[in-house]
Amino acid sequence: MIEQRYWSRADAFMTKPRSVFLMYHELELPGRALCQDSPGYVRYVLHAAEFREQMEFLKRQGWRGVGVGDALNYSPNTVAITFDDGCETDLISAAPILLELGFGATFYITTGFLGKPGYLKHSQLRELSECGPEIGCHSMTHAYLTDLDDHGLHREITEAKTQLEEIIGRPVEHFSCPGGRYDVRVADTARRSGYRTVATSRMRANSTHTDRYSLGRVAVMRATSPAAFADLCRGRGLKRQELVAGLLQGTRRLLGNSTYDRIREVVLRQNSTQ
Ligand SMILES: [Zn+2]
Repeated sequence: MIEQRYWSRADAFMTKPRSVFLMYHELELPGRALCQDSPGYVRYVLHAAEFREQMEFLKRQGWRGVGVGDALNYSPNTVAITFDDGCETDLISAAPILLELGFGATFYITTGFLGKPGYLKHSQLRELSECGPEIGCHSMTHAYLTDLDDHGLHREITEAKTQLEEIIGRPVEHFSCPGGRYDVRVADTARRSGYRTVATSRMRANSTHTDRYSLGRVAVMRATSPAAFADLCRGRGLKRQELVAGLLQGTRRLLGNSTYDRIREVVLRQNSTQ
Protein backbone atom coordinates (compact mmCIF):
# COMPACT_ATOMS: atom_id res chain seq x y z
CA MET A 1 0.00 0.00 0.00
CA ILE A 2 1.44 3.36 -0.99
CA GLU A 3 1.22 5.63 1.98
CA GLN A 4 -1.01 8.63 1.92
CA ARG A 5 1.68 10.91 3.32
CA TYR A 6 3.52 10.79 0.00
CA TRP A 7 0.56 12.23 -1.80
CA SER A 8 -1.38 15.41 -1.30
CA ARG A 9 -4.36 16.51 -3.35
CA ALA A 10 -3.34 20.05 -2.66
CA ASP A 11 -0.07 19.60 -4.53
CA ALA A 12 0.35 22.42 -7.00
CA PHE A 13 1.33 19.99 -9.77
CA MET A 14 -2.24 18.80 -10.05
CA THR A 15 -3.53 22.24 -10.96
CA LYS A 16 -1.01 22.77 -13.75
CA PRO A 17 -1.88 21.66 -17.30
CA ARG A 18 0.88 19.11 -17.49
CA SER A 19 1.03 15.36 -17.24
CA VAL A 20 3.60 12.68 -16.64
CA PHE A 21 3.80 9.90 -19.21
CA LEU A 22 4.85 6.69 -17.45
CA MET A 23 6.94 4.08 -19.28
CA TYR A 24 6.66 0.40 -18.47
CA HIS A 25 8.09 -2.74 -20.07
CA GLU A 26 7.55 -6.45 -19.46
CA LEU A 27 5.77 -7.51 -16.26
CA GLU A 28 6.96 -10.50 -14.25
CA LEU A 29 4.50 -13.24 -13.39
CA PRO A 30 5.24 -16.12 -10.98
CA GLY A 31 6.75 -19.10 -12.78
CA ARG A 32 7.00 -17.34 -16.12
CA ALA A 33 10.37 -16.73 -17.78
CA LEU A 34 11.19 -13.19 -18.87
CA CYS A 35 11.92 -12.32 -22.49
CA GLN A 36 15.50 -11.42 -21.55
CA ASP A 37 17.57 -11.93 -18.40
CA SER A 38 20.39 -9.33 -18.65
CA PRO A 39 20.59 -6.93 -15.69
CA GLY A 40 20.08 -3.98 -18.06
CA TYR A 41 16.75 -5.50 -19.09
CA VAL A 42 15.52 -6.84 -15.76
CA ARG A 43 15.86 -3.47 -14.03
CA TYR A 44 12.96 -2.28 -16.20
CA VAL A 45 10.74 -5.29 -15.34
CA LEU A 46 8.15 -4.89 -12.57
CA HIS A 47 6.31 -7.68 -10.83
CA ALA A 48 2.72 -7.70 -12.08
CA ALA A 49 1.46 -7.40 -8.50
CA GLU A 50 3.48 -4.24 -8.07
CA PHE A 51 2.10 -2.77 -11.27
CA ARG A 52 -1.42 -3.53 -10.02
CA GLU A 53 -0.66 -1.81 -6.73
CA GLN A 54 0.54 1.30 -8.54
CA MET A 55 -2.56 1.45 -10.73
CA GLU A 56 -4.89 0.87 -7.77
CA PHE A 57 -3.09 3.63 -5.91
CA LEU A 58 -3.74 6.06 -8.76
CA LYS A 59 -7.38 5.00 -8.85
CA ARG A 60 -7.81 5.49 -5.11
CA GLN A 61 -6.32 8.97 -5.42
CA GLY A 62 -8.85 9.93 -8.07
CA TRP A 63 -6.38 9.84 -10.93
CA ARG A 64 -7.02 8.35 -14.36
CA GLY A 65 -4.59 6.41 -16.51
CA VAL A 66 -5.00 7.17 -20.21
CA GLY A 67 -3.36 6.47 -23.54
CA VAL A 68 -1.12 9.02 -25.24
CA GLY A 69 -3.88 10.34 -27.52
CA ASP A 70 -6.07 11.23 -24.55
CA ALA A 71 -3.14 12.45 -22.45
CA LEU A 72 -2.52 15.22 -24.98
CA ASN A 73 -5.66 16.92 -23.65
CA TYR A 74 -3.76 17.45 -20.37
CA SER A 75 -6.90 17.02 -18.30
CA PRO A 76 -6.38 17.39 -14.55
CA ASN A 77 -5.36 14.28 -12.63
CA THR A 78 -4.38 12.20 -15.61
CA VAL A 79 -1.24 10.21 -16.19
CA ALA A 80 -0.35 8.48 -19.44
CA ILE A 81 0.39 4.76 -19.16
CA THR A 82 2.71 3.40 -21.83
CA PHE A 83 4.40 0.05 -22.42
CA ASP A 84 7.33 -0.59 -24.76
CA ASP A 85 8.42 -3.61 -26.82
CA GLY A 86 5.21 -5.67 -27.20
CA CYS A 87 5.70 -8.39 -24.58
CA GLU A 88 3.03 -11.04 -24.13
CA THR A 89 2.42 -9.72 -20.62
CA ASP A 90 0.90 -6.60 -22.23
CA LEU A 91 -2.12 -8.77 -23.06
CA ILE A 92 -2.16 -11.39 -20.32
CA SER A 93 -1.30 -9.16 -17.36
CA ALA A 94 -1.25 -5.40 -17.94
CA ALA A 95 -4.38 -5.04 -20.07
CA PRO A 96 -6.71 -6.94 -17.68
CA ILE A 97 -5.56 -4.76 -14.75
CA LEU A 98 -6.05 -1.57 -16.75
CA LEU A 99 -9.44 -2.66 -18.07
CA GLU A 100 -10.63 -3.60 -14.59
CA LEU A 101 -9.78 -0.10 -13.35
CA GLY A 102 -11.20 1.66 -16.41
CA PHE A 103 -7.77 2.98 -17.44
CA GLY A 104 -6.50 3.47 -20.96
CA ALA A 105 -2.92 2.95 -22.14
CA THR A 106 -0.67 2.93 -25.17
CA PHE A 107 1.24 -0.23 -26.04
CA TYR A 108 4.21 0.49 -28.31
CA ILE A 109 5.02 -2.60 -30.37
CA THR A 110 8.32 -3.65 -31.99
CA THR A 111 7.03 -5.43 -35.10
CA GLY A 112 10.12 -7.63 -35.50
CA PHE A 113 9.61 -9.10 -32.02
CA LEU A 114 6.08 -10.34 -32.79
CA GLY A 115 5.88 -14.12 -32.52
CA LYS A 116 9.22 -14.50 -30.71
CA PRO A 117 9.21 -16.32 -27.34
CA GLY A 118 7.65 -14.11 -24.68
CA TYR A 119 6.38 -11.52 -27.11
CA LEU A 120 2.90 -11.04 -28.55
CA LYS A 121 1.80 -13.10 -31.52
CA HIS A 122 -0.11 -11.38 -34.34
CA SER A 123 -3.42 -12.78 -33.08
CA GLN A 124 -2.67 -11.58 -29.53
CA LEU A 125 -1.82 -8.10 -30.80
CA ARG A 126 -5.18 -7.96 -32.58
CA GLU A 127 -6.87 -9.11 -29.38
CA LEU A 128 -5.05 -6.42 -27.38
CA SER A 129 -6.07 -3.73 -29.85
CA GLU A 130 -9.69 -4.88 -29.90
CA CYS A 131 -10.04 -4.77 -26.12
CA GLY A 132 -9.47 -1.03 -26.11
CA PRO A 133 -5.91 0.22 -25.54
CA GLU A 134 -4.10 2.30 -28.12
CA ILE A 135 -1.43 0.56 -30.20
CA GLY A 136 1.70 2.53 -31.02
CA CYS A 137 4.91 1.64 -32.81
CA HIS A 138 8.32 0.98 -31.21
CA SER A 139 10.21 0.39 -34.51
CA MET A 140 10.76 -2.76 -36.56
CA THR A 141 13.95 -4.22 -35.04
CA HIS A 142 14.54 -2.12 -31.91
CA ALA A 143 17.61 -0.55 -33.55
CA TYR A 144 19.06 2.65 -32.09
CA LEU A 145 17.57 5.16 -34.51
CA THR A 146 20.33 7.74 -34.15
CA ASP A 147 22.78 5.21 -35.65
CA LEU A 148 20.76 4.78 -38.86
CA ASP A 149 20.84 6.34 -42.32
CA ASP A 150 17.67 7.61 -44.02
CA HIS A 151 16.85 4.21 -45.48
CA GLY A 152 17.12 2.62 -42.03
CA LEU A 153 14.91 5.27 -40.47
CA HIS A 154 12.28 4.69 -43.16
CA ARG A 155 12.27 0.96 -42.43
CA GLU A 156 12.14 1.31 -38.65
CA ILE A 157 9.58 4.13 -38.48
CA THR A 158 7.53 4.19 -41.71
CA GLU A 159 7.45 0.54 -42.77
CA ALA A 160 6.88 -0.64 -39.20
CA LYS A 161 3.82 1.63 -39.01
CA THR A 162 2.40 0.09 -42.18
CA GLN A 163 3.02 -3.43 -40.87
CA LEU A 164 1.23 -2.70 -37.60
CA GLU A 165 -1.73 -1.08 -39.32
CA GLU A 166 -2.12 -4.14 -41.55
CA ILE A 167 -2.17 -6.41 -38.51
CA ILE A 168 -4.63 -4.46 -36.35
CA GLY A 169 -6.66 -2.78 -39.12
CA ARG A 170 -6.44 0.61 -37.41
CA PRO A 171 -4.27 3.72 -37.79
CA VAL A 172 -1.08 3.76 -35.71
CA GLU A 173 -0.44 7.36 -34.70
CA HIS A 174 2.14 7.22 -31.92
CA PHE A 175 5.81 6.20 -31.94
CA SER A 176 8.31 5.60 -29.13
CA CYS A 177 12.09 5.48 -29.59
CA PRO A 178 13.99 2.24 -28.79
CA GLY A 179 16.48 2.83 -26.00
CA GLY A 180 15.31 6.45 -25.93
CA ARG A 181 17.69 7.28 -28.81
CA TYR A 182 16.24 10.35 -30.47
CA ASP A 183 17.21 13.23 -32.73
CA VAL A 184 15.59 15.67 -35.15
CA ARG A 185 15.82 13.21 -38.06
CA VAL A 186 13.74 10.74 -36.09
CA ALA A 187 11.11 13.42 -35.42
CA ASP A 188 11.04 14.51 -39.07
CA THR A 189 10.70 10.96 -40.37
CA ALA A 190 7.88 10.24 -37.92
CA ARG A 191 6.06 13.44 -38.84
CA ARG A 192 6.32 12.69 -42.57
CA SER A 193 5.12 9.13 -41.96
CA GLY A 194 1.87 10.38 -40.45
CA TYR A 195 2.52 9.87 -36.74
CA ARG A 196 0.97 12.41 -34.38
CA THR A 197 3.54 12.00 -31.62
CA VAL A 198 7.01 10.69 -30.79
CA ALA A 199 7.80 9.65 -27.23
CA THR A 200 11.40 9.74 -26.01
CA SER A 201 12.78 8.64 -22.64
CA ARG A 202 13.53 12.16 -21.44
CA MET A 203 12.67 12.33 -17.76
CA ARG A 204 10.24 15.21 -17.80
CA ALA A 205 6.54 15.95 -17.61
CA ASN A 206 4.75 17.17 -20.73
CA SER A 207 2.46 20.14 -21.15
CA THR A 208 0.55 21.91 -23.89
CA HIS A 209 3.85 23.64 -24.68
CA THR A 210 5.75 20.39 -25.26
CA ASP A 211 6.64 19.50 -28.84
CA ARG A 212 4.49 16.45 -29.64
CA TYR A 213 7.42 14.94 -31.53
CA SER A 214 9.63 15.03 -28.45
CA LEU A 215 7.41 13.93 -25.56
CA GLY A 216 9.11 13.10 -22.28
CA ARG A 217 8.50 9.79 -20.52
CA VAL A 218 9.34 8.63 -17.06
CA ALA A 219 10.55 5.04 -16.64
CA VAL A 220 9.03 3.08 -13.78
CA MET A 221 11.80 0.71 -12.74
CA ARG A 222 11.94 -2.51 -10.71
CA ALA A 223 13.67 -0.50 -7.97
CA THR A 224 11.11 2.35 -7.98
CA SER A 225 9.70 2.47 -4.46
CA PRO A 226 6.05 3.33 -3.74
CA ALA A 227 7.13 6.74 -2.45
CA ALA A 228 9.24 7.37 -5.54
CA PHE A 229 6.32 6.31 -7.75
CA ALA A 230 4.04 8.84 -6.07
CA ASP A 231 6.68 11.51 -6.64
CA LEU A 232 7.15 10.55 -10.28
CA CYS A 233 3.44 10.86 -11.02
CA ARG A 234 3.47 14.34 -9.53
CA GLY A 235 6.52 15.28 -11.60
CA ARG A 236 8.58 15.76 -8.45
CA GLY A 237 12.37 15.30 -8.76
CA LEU A 238 12.32 14.94 -12.54
CA LYS A 239 14.61 17.91 -13.12
CA ARG A 240 17.42 16.19 -11.20
CA GLN A 241 16.87 12.90 -12.99
CA GLU A 242 16.81 14.62 -16.38
CA LEU A 243 20.15 16.23 -15.53
CA VAL A 244 21.72 12.85 -14.71
CA ALA A 245 20.22 11.37 -17.89
CA GLY A 246 21.68 14.28 -19.87
CA LEU A 247 25.16 13.52 -18.52
CA LEU A 248 24.79 9.86 -19.49
CA GLN A 249 23.63 10.90 -22.95
CA GLY A 250 26.77 13.01 -23.36
CA THR A 251 28.90 9.99 -22.38
CA ARG A 252 27.00 7.84 -24.87
CA ARG A 253 27.69 10.33 -27.65
CA LEU A 254 31.40 10.29 -26.84
CA LEU A 255 31.68 6.50 -26.68
CA GLY A 256 29.13 5.52 -29.31
CA ASN A 257 26.05 3.39 -28.60
CA SER A 258 27.68 -0.06 -28.81
CA THR A 259 30.71 0.73 -26.60
CA TYR A 260 28.48 2.49 -24.08
CA ASP A 261 26.12 -0.52 -23.94
CA ARG A 262 28.97 -3.00 -23.39
CA ILE A 263 30.37 -0.97 -20.49
CA ARG A 264 26.91 -0.42 -19.01
CA GLU A 265 26.11 -4.14 -19.09
CA VAL A 266 29.41 -5.04 -17.35
CA VAL A 267 28.78 -2.44 -14.61
CA LEU A 268 25.18 -3.58 -14.07
CA ARG A 269 26.22 -7.24 -13.99
CA GLN A 270 28.86 -6.50 -11.35
CA ASN A 271 26.36 -4.57 -9.27
CA SER A 272 23.77 -7.34 -9.49
CA THR A 273 26.25 -9.96 -8.23
CA GLN A 274 27.56 -7.91 -5.32
ZN1 LIG B 1 12.26 -0.90 -26.11
